[in-house]
Amino acid sequence: MSRPRMQKFICEEPEFKEFIATGAKSTYDTNLTIEEYEVIRLIDMEKMSQEECAVQMKVSRPTIQILYSSARRKIASFIVEGSRLVIGGGEYMFCTDTDSNCMYRNKMNKCHKEERERE
Ligand SMILES: [Zn+2]
Repeated sequence: MSRPRMQKFICEEPEFKEFIATGAKSTYDTNLTIEEYEVIRLIDMEKMSQEECAVQMKVSRPTIQILYSSARRKIASFIVEGSRLVIGGGEYMFCTDTDSNCMYRNKMNKCHKEERERE
């Protein structure tokens, strides 16, 4: 019996989903999943610890470590080798439910998404 893969909770989909290196000659795509993007956003942009990130996305800390290292490896490959970076796919849900672990929702009573939409 296979265990269902755990859903990761994210605040919103990325605004920018495709990046092309200027002068790139290779044609392969580097694909960053939505969950990997969210881990980079939370840890590197929002300065969350891996523990906080795990709570936020409702997954275990080891899962965050795996996502974080694979995301960084892909981003490194993109900036070193060029070609195209595409963000998309993965298994995730939006943290808009009332029992969400979302820190934005808990601390500010609103989600990242709502925050940006109001700007
Ligand atoms: Zn949220």
